[in-house]
Amino acid sequence: MKQHETYPLIPIQRGDGVWLYDTDGKKYLDTVSSWWVNLFGHNNPRIKNAIKQQLDTLEHVMLAGFTHEPVVALSEKLAQLTGLGHAFYASDGASATEIALKMSFHYWRNIGKPSKTKFISLQNSYHGETMGSLGVTDVAIFKDTYAPLLMQSALVPSPDFRLAETGESAEQFALRCADALEQHVAQHSSELAALIVEPLVQCAAGMGMYHPAYLKRAREICSRYEVHLIADEIAVGFGRTGTMFACEQAHITADFICLSKGITGGYLPLSAVLTSDKIYQAFYHDATVKGFLHSHSYTGNPLACSAALATLAIFETDAVLVNNRHKSAYVFDKMQVLTHLPIKHLRHQGMIFAFDAVTEDAQFSKRCYQAAIAQGLLLRPIGNTVYFMPPYTITESEIDLMVNTTYAVLKAIL
Ligand SMILES: *Cc1c(COP(=O)(O)O)cnc(C)c1O
Repeated sequence: MKQHETYPLIPIQRGDGVWLYDTDGKKYLDTVSSWWVNLFGHNNPRIKNAIKQQLDTLEHVMLAGFTHEPVVALSEKLAQLTGLGHAFYASDGASATEIALKMSFHYWRNIGKPSKTKFISLQNSYHGETMGSLGVTDVAIFKDTYAPLLMQSALVPSPDFRLAETGESAEQFALRCADALEQHVAQHSSELAALIVEPLVQCAAGMGMYHPAYLKRAREICSRYEVHLIADEIAVGFGRTGTMFACEQAHITADFICLSKGITGGYLPLSAVLTSDKIYQAFYHDATVKGFLHSHSYTGNPLACSAALATLAIFETDAVLVNNRHKSAYVFDKMQVLTHLPIKHLRHQGMIFAFDAVTEDAQFSKRCYQAAIAQGLLLRPIGNTVYFMPPYTITESEIDLMVNTTYAVLKAIL
């Protein structure tokens, strides 16, 4: 809060498309999709109207002993899209991570392998900030303060291509990291419940991108040693990496998929954990304690489900993934101008674009944010990583403005 003396809060009054308008009428291009949640622009008529219609019908009912049409329809849709036929709902990403971790642990207990209690995650991973999810997160600034409170989990090397040796290809590096994973899993499989990963892009680590070969090997290793694979697609799901889900690019299915963020197009909080018949069957029992006793008051909220259904309908009717391919190429082509600046690792994966500024300035991210805001651009660098994760509805002229303004801002401060 004290830092806001220097960086005052910006009071936003309304949004429209990629634009946010403050109470003085000044507008900001939302290049970060309001923290990666917005897919089809602010004030999207289709999502807005779906929520309004649902609001006239049923705002909420508990999902214990009751069900309702939007949650059934959404579950069917998500099953169809992921190939995993069972859905468990919550309201935010961190809860989805917690649910997947608890369900994995509980599965092993239910099938008579109670020693499988531990989790592993990738170095620099981010899976949310409640105590359980922070336990598998590896971002020092969020974690260190609370470390004494957290469950112990092991880290394996991150396949983030920026960490490769010079001359090593992304694929070679991914496979080398997968070897390290195999070594760890082989040694500890009797006590391991699950590996949790952010498929293809470790977003909070500064858009650390990696080759799909890692996921393919991770899937094989997990299957061979009887360890669950949890795919945290909270940030990368719903088309962000170019396919509906990032795991598709490695042709794998995880045992659990965590979804949130873009699921409602950025309108309402909702998350889901999808899992397989095999996992489901281990909980299907007369004894209540064998069931998965985990609940949140707003689980499966009908308004949020209606926003999610409207969001998924847009994917179908507007050929979003195909159009995004062209848009992604257009943005990355435009971004080549940035190579004239002191930057490295210019990269992209679907509708995620990033590069790292070469600077010793520890205040770079704050200065960049501030300078961009002055120019009407909402940029929110992570350390030295500057990235764009815009709503998919961004137009070519808005892309030009986004890239040109970024160039001007960085030229002035680097
Ligand atoms: C944002 C995020 C989360 C946490 O979601 P919240 O809704 O902020 O709790 C978890 N995992 C990943 C990969 C994320 O990007």
